[in-house]
Amino acid sequence: MRKSLIDPFNRTIDYVRVSVTDKCNYRCGYCMPEQGVHPDGVHSEYLSYDELARIIKAFVDLGVAKIRITGGEPLVRKNLAGFVAQIKAFDGLEDIALSTNAHYLEREAEALTLAGVTRANISIDSLRPARFKNITRGGDLEKVLAGVDKALEVGMKPIKFNMVVMKGTNDDEIEAMVDYGIQKGVEVRFIETMPIGPAGVGMMEQHYPADKILARIKKHVGVDLIPSTGKSHDGPARNFIIAGTDTRIGVISAVSQHFCATCNRVRLTAKGILALCLGQADSVDLRTPLRNGITDEALQQLIVDAMLKKPEKHFFNENVHNIEFRQMVQLGG
Ligand code: SAM
Ligand code: SF4
Repeated sequence: MRKSLIDPFNRTIDYVRVSVTDKCNYRCGYCMPEQGVHPDGVHSEYLSYDELARIIKAFVDLGVAKIRITGGEPLVRKNLAGFVAQIKAFDGLEDIALSTNAHYLEREAEALTLAGVTRANISIDSLRPARFKNITRGGDLEKVLAGVDKALEVGMKPIKFNMVVMKGTNDDEIEAMVDYGIQKGVEVRFIETMPIGPAGVGMMEQHYPADKILARIKKHVGVDLIPSTGKSHDGPARNFIIAGTDTRIGVISAVSQHFCATCNRVRLTAKGILALCLGQADSVDLRTPLRNGITDEALQQLIVDAMLKKPEKHFFNENVHNIEFRQMVQLGG
């Protein structure tokens, strides 16, 4: 029988979000400081693909079935497809998903799909080129939309669009995003800003509540939004089907804690820190023991013991954002 990782609150942890880099070619205001996270970061601090793969293998042997590759922007790291192929070979790993800003996706989607990525979440906060450029501090909407089309063409499925809704910045585009999702046959998820890292905390004055987003969408489509629950990929999103269509929309309101009871995930940073909760400081360093020659058995035991530290709930209101790795760009969303 396969092993499984269980935390003190009887939650089975079968999903790891792996940040392969904390660097990004964009600088979204709610995520990244303007100068980047570690503009002069030391290369050796980051785990190699072999080191990341070794940790992932330990998780898979402990029952983890799903990995999401995230960042920073994962596509800025060279030969990501090679890394995907490396972990795809692990027996028991069923699902490799990607989170990306899609800037390089037109170039990479085919290789990534062939290597084993099935699904992708793509961030798009605006469909207006000038505004998109402003929000991302330099992003190129045309490239992103080309990336979306390529991902659809090579068969990544499902693709989901993620839009962080910010009052006074892009909240007038909620309806346009719904229409774009319907046009592309893609689910759209609207995310409330979260107070993670100094950038995220600074954006909370633009917080736009999920219930208001839902009311706007309902008015726009003119039909009911039927709650749609129970898909294993839903995570923290509250999902709805637009009545009379196949289109799903979702809202993610992390601050409300409504999803903590079913949390099934932990996060690995690009420097090898295992973060047990998005909104709490609890973490375990895996890089040091790894580089000190830990055995496979001891690594697994370290992970099993780490689960004991997984908190019951997040408390975004506590002052965890000053901790070194507590930035969204390091935690991978
Ligand atoms: N670069 C990729 C991207 O943008 O999709 C992957 C990493 S990014 C950190 C993952 C997700 O976190 C994105 O959907 C982004 O919009 C979201 N995110 C980052 N900071 C956030 C914040 N303060 N509040 C809410 N969502 C945030
Ligand atoms: Fe980069 Fe994604 Fe953060 Fe934007 S949200 S700065 S694209 S890591």
